Amino acid sequence: MVDTQQFDVVIVGAGPGGYVGAIRAAQLGLKVACVEKMPALGGTCLNIGCIPSKALLDSSEWFSQARHKFASHGVVCDGVRLDLPAMMRRKDEVVRGLTQGIVSLFKKHQVTHLPGHARFRDAKTLEITAENGSHQLVQTNAIIVATGSEPITLPSLPFDGERIVSSTEALCFSEVPQHLVVVGGGAIGLELGSVWLRLGAKVTVVELLPRLIPGTTDAQIAATLQRSLKKQGFDFLLGSKVTQGAVRNGEVVLTIEDGKGQQSELKADRVLVAVGRKAYAAGLGAQEIGVAFDDRGRIIVDNHFQTNVPGVYAIGDVIAGPMLAHKAEEEGVALAELLAGKAGHVNYEVIPGIVYTWPEVATVGLSEEAAKAAEIPYKAGTFYFLANGRARCMDETDGMVKVIADAKTDRVLGVHIVGPRASDVIAEAVMAMEFGASAEDMARTMHGHPTLPEALREAALNVDKRSRQS
Ligand SMILES: Cc1cc2nc3c(=O)[nH]c(=O)nc-3n(C[C@H](O)[C@H](O)[C@H](O)COP(=O)(O)OP(=O)(O)OC[C@H]3O[C@@H](n4cnc5c(N)ncnc54)[C@H](O)[C@@H]3O)c2cc1C
Repeated sequence: MVDTQQFDVVIVGAGPGGYVGAIRAAQLGLKVACVEKMPALGGTCLNIGCIPSKALLDSSEWFSQARHKFASHGVVCDGVRLDLPAMMRRKDEVVRGLTQGIVSLFKKHQVTHLPGHARFRDAKTLEITAENGSHQLVQTNAIIVATGSEPITLPSLPFDGERIVSSTEALCFSEVPQHLVVVGGGAIGLELGSVWLRLGAKVTVVELLPRLIPGTTDAQIAATLQRSLKKQGFDFLLGSKVTQGAVRNGEVVLTIEDGKGQQSELKADRVLVAVGRKAYAAGLGAQEIGVAFDDRGRIIVDNHFQTNVPGVYAIGDVIAGPMLAHKAEEEGVALAELLAGKAGHVNYEVIPGIVYTWPEVATVGLSEEAAKAAEIPYKAGTFYFLANGRARCMDETDGMVKVIADAKTDRVLGVHIVGPRASDVIAEAVMAMEFGASAEDMARTMHGHPTLPEALREAALNVDKRSRQS
């Protein structure tokens, strides 16, 4: 005899989509359960994604600064050395603190955490199998699938968990690789490549396209980042692909083919394959109850996140859209509000995208290329951190800001930053765009001096060629 519990909403997956949605639904008075098969709450983001990668990026940046930068500030650090186990322990501690935080939040908001693997029995019933093999059934009128994503595998380079790895293993190497080859020049590859480069590895990035961070990032911004990373020691093989890879005598031997079809060999002790992620819904039984998927394995939803099966919803990485924690969170909140009879909504026009290299890249809205492709008349204003007082004080002058505004209305269409703390500076641009600001609005907003966001204001002024750099 299996117990059946009843809830208003049951969410499968406790990543940023699932746990944030669960808390919002509970705040709105719904009886909520959240099922998670991993031992810790928080999903990819907290356990093997955003948080551990940023913890290592921050630690490795301190190490690199102490070795290469502090002396220029008059801070002499002799004998700086790496304690990798301590760095990893600290990262694990950050992760543990945050995942434990969700346990407390669930308690506070009376969200029932159901540990185990969820599988649909029917559109209103889930069977949950705990680690010890015990089963329970839960029934509800609303099931939210928030099962996330997993790394894409290259058939020519299957993961072995040791030499050929995904981001998960690259977050916890026990020693610094001598030569790390990163396949894929996107955010995850460049971030983890930065970590290991700063800690002493030689890092080569192989990217199929002729540029880094393809997608929504403005090409000029991506080229500026590439120059900065090259100065730091990155090697890039752009417009090239890995056609073969094999582990021989403890090292990986890769065959690389460039755009002209020329083949060459590259040897590495570790290879990180970071060519993207794909939606994950394995073992959930969603197909079996008739839920429709697209040709990329993503669950198809309408603009209220409902699948073709009434009462079954999906959010986050498992549906279309950028695979970002904050996008998943916003969808979780919007859906919880819709289920509580409110007007939940996500503004997909203003999703910031950030690459936490140094300098950082942060972008929101249309790039120049996208504006041209859509034949939208636009004006662009740029400003270089070289002329920003705070960046000079920090000795971090690499990079620029670009503001793109509609040529007729002056409404801001996109903002692109490569530079120090771009991840923080972009927040102002996102807010401005959310409120439909014009470049003039941004230009007339007083900014504290000297600050990095002044560069954003100057770029906005420069839309009408009014900045000091014009
Ligand atoms: C290395 C790395 C760095 C990243 N850095 C960033 C970043 O800086 N910023 C950013 O915005 N995004 C980043 N991301 C992406 C971000 O982690 C994801 O976009 C985000 O986690 C998606 O949230 P989600 O809730 O949709 O799914 P997930 O976080 O993947 O959570 C899904 C959860 O569902 C659980 N689950 C799946 N199936 C079942 C089942 N049948 N039963 C029970 N539980 C199940 C899984 O165990 C998992 O915990 C990064 C990703 C990686 C890999």
